Amino acid sequence: MKTFCGRANPTTGSMEWLEEGEDYDYHQEIARSRYADMLHDKDRNVKYYQGIRAAVSRVKERGEKAIVLDIGTGTGLLSMMAASAGADFCYAIEVFKPMANAAVKIVEKNGFSDKIKVINKHSTEVTVGPEGDMQCRANILVTELFDTELIGEGALPTYEHAHKYLVQEGCEAVPHRATVYVQLVESKRMWSWKKLFPVHVEAEDGEKILVPPSEMENCPGVPSVCDIQLNQMPSSDFTTLSDVVTMFSVDFSKPVQSASTYYRVQLEPVKSGKAQIVLSWWDIDMDPSGMINCTMAPYWVKPTSALQWRDHWMQCVYFLPHEEPVLQGEKLYLTACRDEYSVWYNLQKAREGENKADGEEHKADVRVESPVCRCRAHLLWNRPRFGELNDQNRTRQYVESLRKVLKTDSVCLCISDGTLLPVLAHYLGAKQVQCMQPSRIGLYHPHELWQALFKANHLEDKIKIIEARPELLKPSHLEDKKISVLVGEPFFTTSLLPWHNLYFWYARTAVSTHLASSVTVLPQSASLHMMIVEFQDLWRIRSPCGICEGFDVQTMDDMIKDSLNFRESKEAEPHPLWEYPCKSLSDPQEVLTFDFTKRVPQHCLSTEGSVNLLRKGKSHGAVLWMEYHLAADISVSTGLMQISNEKGNCEWNPHCKQAVYFFSSVIESEILSDPTAVTYAINFDTKTGEIAMDFKL
Ligand code: SAH
Repeated sequence: MKTFCGRANPTTGSMEWLEEGEDYDYHQEIARSRYADMLHDKDRNVKYYQGIRAAVSRVKERGEKAIVLDIGTGTGLLSMMAASAGADFCYAIEVFKPMANAAVKIVEKNGFSDKIKVINKHSTEVTVGPEGDMQCRANILVTELFDTELIGEGALPTYEHAHKYLVQEGCEAVPHRATVYVQLVESKRMWSWKKLFPVHVEAEDGEKILVPPSEMENCPGVPSVCDIQLNQMPSSDFTTLSDVVTMFSVDFSKPVQSASTYYRVQLEPVKSGKAQIVLSWWDIDMDPSGMINCTMAPYWVKPTSALQWRDHWMQCVYFLPHEEPVLQGEKLYLTACRDEYSVWYNLQKAREGENKADGEEHKADVRVESPVCRCRAHLLWNRPRFGELNDQNRTRQYVESLRKVLKTDSVCLCISDGTLLPVLAHYLGAKQVQCMQPSRIGLYHPHELWQALFKANHLEDKIKIIEARPELLKPSHLEDKKISVLVGEPFFTTSLLPWHNLYFWYARTAVSTHLASSVTVLPQSASLHMMIVEFQDLWRIRSPCGICEGFDVQTMDDMIKDSLNFRESKEAEPHPLWEYPCKSLSDPQEVLTFDFTKRVPQHCLSTEGSVNLLRKGKSHGAVLWMEYHLAADISVSTGLMQISNEKGNCEWNPHCKQAVYFFSSVIESEILSDPTAVTYAINFDTKTGEIAMDFKL
């Protein structure tokens, strides 16, 4: 079987479909999966084990045989816990074939083959009866099918089906229930991920302000979940306007309904402010009494309890359709709507004389359809990109650089996706401004957004959008003029790793014949930087587990290792490091430079060298990022912003993902008088636009 994998080509900026062997997909799946992270989640594992033991005991106390159904068994971990706890038999269901195979091996290695039957099916395909997959219905239902949004991986339809067809009425369930919590907050930082703020530009003839089109004001945005490591959000970046409130619960021991519905609670703000964001997380009670509780609550909710780090479950940020000023003590209704797989929120003010959170009277204003972006901006800009465009510091650096290079007779061409640079260039007095924009991003045509944005700012005839690819640029697009200033951020929606934005260099090369001999290119160059780091926690996602709660899961470790070694899984991977604290063990080092004033060369660019480990710590990997040199003395970093203290704690650009290359083995640097050196070889292949690297410790 062959699969086709979509991949952006960094030399053309467009998607290509590559035919891959059948192994490709599952190696990617396993190498990048969260299985390792789950096995390292001690808090989760311990509590599942406690809950499973308690459930088996309750069934045994009733004098019944304990028959377990474990949906989504993965490594088989929860079934092995059940078998150890004395369950008579376990049906372990796993839809993903390589995992089901691994589960068979792991179960056998741990000596549970007679107690656990692994079934490689989706649970909705499982049959019950003398000839079926299961002899009889189970009386203990164990699952771990949750994502950060709780229901995003299809837990509800799976439970709904299991209660109808696979388990007995009155069964025990581990977890027994899940509860979703919310807190209303005001946060300029998080709100900047959803809305375009006015952009202020100091121009020669006074201040110019770019305003968003009015459609953007009330646009509900897109339904995809915004899941982040909320514990990395400093309390100075938001103000809580309400207490933590229980939004809804699901009892997994009873029949579950997956059909769309909504839940409503009454809120009284503890503070006046602008309601913008609903922060949300959940917990699961492993037993009916709620004594065994596993929670995703962020740091400020129970400041005394130890936080378990995990990446497979984080917290959610929901954006209200529009900002709502609220007063302390005023009565509000918060509504959570959900379909089978996702949740979204609305806030309403209570009408005069209303007191109860009584759903009926409000039915009319509940918007049960999931949010659809009407302004089109949310299709062009994702949340980190909104944040980047709203970063006034960053805008200021571009404005200052543009001011240095633009003249009144400048003919300016901008190449970057969804960029506001052409507007800045126009405000700063460039005579003619054109911008190359893809005519399509996926299925979406950004043209109408530009029209709306230009209209709202009376720029219709001031900036020309060229919907051609750089190699198809014609003199007529430029009114037969040569380009005197070529600018880019650079930013492209198809980029995954930092150096994929070097597409700007390829585009610059493609438009070479249109450049004036005295052209200024902004940025004039870019550089790739690298630093060796110790992660506080992120190392767990790639680290073998060995023994998990007494069960040997090394088979899984080996499988992940195989998949990582399979082809390009060995490459660096993108991570937004502001969410993943680390400390620098080496000085940041510039390893390659890219000269945008020249064309992309034919030959590869490579470098070799060594870097000293200057701090004590575990070298988990190297982080790489790009810096763009806009003009003399003005550079922007898409990675390291600063090393904030003598311990080496790093501050990263909050809008960008950095590249992380995990070392296959960790070394501990100890003696600082004789520093350990890490040698590296880095190669930028100008034919493919990819960077290959190798490190020796
Ligand atoms: N139970 C394991 C693994 C949890 S990950 C543990 O706790 O460590 C969830 C697993 O469920 C994944 O392997 C996924 O492939 C599988 N899965 C999800 N929904 C399923 C369904 N309805 N039927 C069968 N497998 C499912």
